[in-house]
Amino acid sequence: MREVDSLRRFLFEDAPLRGHWLRLESSWRAAREHQDHPPVVTALLGEALAAVTLLAAALKFRGTLTLQVRGKGLLPLLIAQCTHERKLRGVAQPLEGAEIPDTATLEELIGDGQLVVTVDNEEGMPWQGIVPLTGGTLSACLERYFETSEQLPTRLVLSADGHRAAGFLLQKLPSPEHAGEGEEGRRHDLWEEVSVLLATLGGRELLDTEVDVLLHRLFAEHDLRLFESEVVRFGCRCGPERIAALLRSLGEDEAQDIVAEQGAITVTCEFCHRPYRYDAIDVAQLFAETPAAIPPGSMN
Ligand SMILES: [Zn+2]
Repeated sequence: MREVDSLRRFLFEDAPLRGHWLRLESSWRAAREHQDHPPVVTALLGEALAAVTLLAAALKFRGTLTLQVRGKGLLPLLIAQCTHERKLRGVAQPLEGAEIPDTATLEELIGDGQLVVTVDNEEGMPWQGIVPLTGGTLSACLERYFETSEQLPTRLVLSADGHRAAGFLLQKLPSPEHAGEGEEGRRHDLWEEVSVLLATLGGRELLDTEVDVLLHRLFAEHDLRLFESEVVRFGCRCGPERIAALLRSLGEDEAQDIVAEQGAITVTCEFCHRPYRYDAIDVAQLFAETPAAIPPGSMN
């Protein structure tokens, strides 16, 4: 059976390794439904959504994990988010009017940029990690992120086209404290060996192959345990409260000015394209309801 919109965890019974496999189809199509980008931007957005879902699976938290790619190139901003409930959404914002060739590299797309990983944790402190965008691919940047921020050697393969997105993540578990030099050496050799094997996995093969077949193909010599599938969905976090907060942050005068000029304020969610419309009465109510929400200093 073809598995789609599915996240599967696996571990090696005979080695300190673990990983996740992911394939998105309808969730990916829903996430990009209102975004009409050049193929190379679509592919990067799909890879980012696959990556953020794998990161969410690999890191323990309750809340939302956000992957932000920021730069000064043709694509200055790309955001991908996944919650602990495996709801994802994402948006890419190329420069207006930019012509983006199919052959554009990550450097050409992003330019001198950064990869920012943020966790809004419901049950603890929020945290953020930043790595420079180097290495030519999103997966190389994320491997660096894991190495520097999480001290976890990690290998990632990502792939996406207009219909599907897929990802594969493999991690080396930390050594126990009592591990001797021999044990460390064996762990190191094993990691080198599986890294080489994983480097043979191509993007097309990842998109097309079922997880059990793929694991067998890559690691036939090892004993692996594959866990039950987790469903991944598209889900937007926008809602009237968030939009109201955004409008309040504009300030009453500016909101009234827009209503005077345009008859109403229309805000469209950039992730799901749901429109929110506020006419003169809505705006008056918005500012009458919660005077405390006006930021200090904005009332002179
Ligand atoms: Zn939305």
